[in-house]
Amino acid sequence: MTFTLEPSYDDNPRLQDLVDRLRGYLRDELLPYERAHGITPESPLDRPTLEGVWKRSRELGFYGVSLPPELGGQGLSLYGLCALKEELTASGAALSHSVLGDLGGPLRVGSVLRYATSQQVERYLMPVIRGERACCFSLTEQDAGSDVRRMTTTATPDGDGYVLDGKKVFSSAAPFADFAIVVVRMAGEDETYSAFLVDLDTPGCTVLDGEIPMSGQRMEGDLVFDGCRVPAANLLGEIGQGLRIGIGRITLNRLLHCPSLIGAARRAWSLSVRHASTRVAFGQPLLALQAVQHKLADMATDLYAARSMVRETAAKADRGENISVEANMCKLFTAEACFRVADQAVQIHGKAGLTRGHEVEQIFRSLRMFRIVTGTTEIHKNAIAKGLV
Ligand SMILES: Cc1cc2nc3c(=O)[nH]c(=O)nc-3n(C[C@H](O)[C@H](O)[C@H](O)COP(=O)(O)OP(=O)(O)OC[C@H]3O[C@@H](n4cnc5c(N)ncnc54)[C@H](O)[C@@H]3O)c2cc1C
Repeated sequence: MTFTLEPSYDDNPRLQDLVDRLRGYLRDELLPYERAHGITPESPLDRPTLEGVWKRSRELGFYGVSLPPELGGQGLSLYGLCALKEELTASGAALSHSVLGDLGGPLRVGSVLRYATSQQVERYLMPVIRGERACCFSLTEQDAGSDVRRMTTTATPDGDGYVLDGKKVFSSAAPFADFAIVVVRMAGEDETYSAFLVDLDTPGCTVLDGEIPMSGQRMEGDLVFDGCRVPAANLLGEIGQGLRIGIGRITLNRLLHCPSLIGAARRAWSLSVRHASTRVAFGQPLLALQAVQHKLADMATDLYAARSMVRETAAKADRGENISVEANMCKLFTAEACFRVADQAVQIHGKAGLTRGHEVEQIFRSLRMFRIVTGTTEIHKNAIAKGLV
């Protein structure tokens, strides 16, 4: 893979066309819309704005693009999806998370599709794919993060359904989602976990505003279940498959987060080159200083390494090979490397990079989170060692 900051796909005209059209949509529609409405990454999100992006993206063929044609997608490979995802965050668009459906859309549903019954596909998943409904995924609890088996939210069998009790925290997209994919412990069982589709307007289910993480983005919510009755038809997969469904989704998600981080780091690199070209110190632009050039070289090298391993792993997954170790390697390396890139970008920007609201400062805070979110660096290392030793 030849390194260019803005990759081209001359050997794959279909992908090149998709990438060109996505770049055009971001440049000519989404970014001007955000500027006109003063939307930044830290703006509160409202459902009508998000629905506007989902619908437009669906019209243009991006929303759910990786789904099979029978579900309204174009069967885009994971490799192709990585290419599109990188473009989204590289554009700097604040609403980029909603173009392919990362936040509440088809990508959040992810690999759980294969466990859904045909009724669940019709009732829950197709409306998400059409951009009419949104969902969140809820595994984490206050006292159960990396160690998900410590979860205390339970499902108790009750007639032809189940009653859920407990609390999930930090569910991305919860504040504007219609339903959640919730993983819970079966009451009275030590190690049996199940996944349910839960409508968020079900009596006994309350959505609370979540904590605001250091990125300043307001996308997370907490779900409280207090005697919340869910019909048996909403069980996803079988009793006892909850962690397999949850963790299986997370493995692919770990890989698919990587191109978003690479895109954000690529944006930080471009901003750094621009700043270094125009900022003058000691009679010359910063870019003339070898110390600054070395930083840019280190940043580009990290980007090249991260992109290469992520694309290689995506191609492997496209061939149907197991990527459980490699997905963890990709997320581990990419999160650490992209954070290094962001840190260097702040350094090159000097005080501007430390100023609240500067784009590089926001990227720095956002990228810092991904050494923890969707699996911490330490948990990735545990998984890699476990898979290899
Ligand atoms: C912005 C944001 C969005 C999120 N979105 C979602 C979501 O949509 N759905 C969802 O379910 N969750 C979500 N989460 C939760 C996220 O996945 C967890 O925060 C993450 O898994 C880590 O759990 P924890 O924060 O409880 O940290 P802990 O598990 O308490 O870990 C604390 C520290 O201990 C280390 N540690 C723990 N166990 C080990 C070990 N065995 N070996 C070595 N080190 C270890 C960790 O690496 C870490 O450094 C989100 C979190 C954030 C901040």
